[in-house]
Amino acid sequence: MLMSIDASALTYRPCPICDSTNRRTVLSLPHTPLGDRFCDDSSEAKALKIYPLQVDRCQSCGHSFIPYSTDPEDSYKHYLFNSGKSPGLAEIFSEIISDLLARHQICSDDLILDIGANDGSWLSYFGDIGCSLLGVEPAPTPAAISKSRGIPVINDYFTLPNVLHSGLLTQTPRVISLNYVFANLPNPHEILCDIASLIDDNTVTTVLTGYHPAQLAVSMFDYVYHEHLSYYSCQDLQALAEKAGLTITHCRETPQKGGSLYLEMQKSSRDHSTSIIFETMLKREIWLDTPRDAQWLRVQEHLAKTGQSVRSSIEEARSKGNRVIGYGASHSTTTLCYALSIESSLDFIIDDNDTRHGLYAPGTGCEVASPRILTENPGALVIILAWQHGPKIVDNLIRLHFQGSVIMPFPSYSKDVFNG
Ligand SMILES: [Zn+2]
Repeated sequence: MLMSIDASALTYRPCPICDSTNRRTVLSLPHTPLGDRFCDDSSEAKALKIYPLQVDRCQSCGHSFIPYSTDPEDSYKHYLFNSGKSPGLAEIFSEIISDLLARHQICSDDLILDIGANDGSWLSYFGDIGCSLLGVEPAPTPAAISKSRGIPVINDYFTLPNVLHSGLLTQTPRVISLNYVFANLPNPHEILCDIASLIDDNTVTTVLTGYHPAQLAVSMFDYVYHEHLSYYSCQDLQALAEKAGLTITHCRETPQKGGSLYLEMQKSSRDHSTSIIFETMLKREIWLDTPRDAQWLRVQEHLAKTGQSVRSSIEEARSKGNRVIGYGASHSTTTLCYALSIESSLDFIIDDNDTRHGLYAPGTGCEVASPRILTENPGALVIILAWQHGPKIVDNLIRLHFQGSVIMPFPSYSKDVFNG
């Protein structure tokens, strides 16, 4: 039995960048369980709490954010996300680090501190050149994987007392990194100020995070989930860096997650000037007046139309006695299923990540299986829930000689028949 948490029971927070309480709701999604709570047991999955899910936009500074946060223990105690298993992440880590090492004189005497270290994938590249490493990771499962790789880990949230009292911070870090964690922080200003107090002129703070204007341009709404609290533009990041006494010294766009930004920040001083690429992107956002409320509202309309198309295809498949199978089991696919109102229409979810096989989807208890089950289900309707990885999934379907229909719901709805 699902237990719905009423919106009035949640504590609303002001804009995390400018503290204004003047906000407008620009995306309303159905009440949804925490998206990555895939469970060992079907009845446990069905009994999870479901929470309201919406994005508000600050009418003062323009920042898009979720205006309340759920209990972090509910999310991170059970957190399954594993950097090493995330498609494309190893490649971008390797490329960014090669470039970082080429531009900064980082050597084996240096300490690298990774906030939200997950399974240690990022730190292990620096371990290969002999650097001292320190990870901070609240989720027990990935923290244990890091430790098993020989990486010292503080299995807790990043706070100054947790880091300073750990006994593991033996010198000023040469690099402090935050990879796809910055958007999950309820208090990004406070964290940047804490980082600023730990660094010297030589420290490089790196942030890899979703670039919201690029994601919004391709209707990538399914990165909206309860742990993902902020949707950053260059204007937002500039405001945060400035308030913490930091300068954005290097910037590049990367294609991950529909568009991401890699930034380097250093203490503001005469020696550090703002990246020209970042300044150009900032100007472009201001001149184009983007992102805007209207763009979010267009996504909401797009979602309603796509939901109708997908649901009518499901009805057609059912009328022919065919099974309906979702491809992809993650935070984003939970958001997508609920947003399209198809969460209870799937017979199975399949995923390439074998650590998720045999688990049950949050809210519905739908089982996650190997894509190999497709060979037992000719004629099935496959809905590509992880559409960001669409080309790779289509290759897998061809390799498995899949026979049946395939829906790609976004960025624009399409349906194809595969003949094996
Ligand atoms: Zn604001």
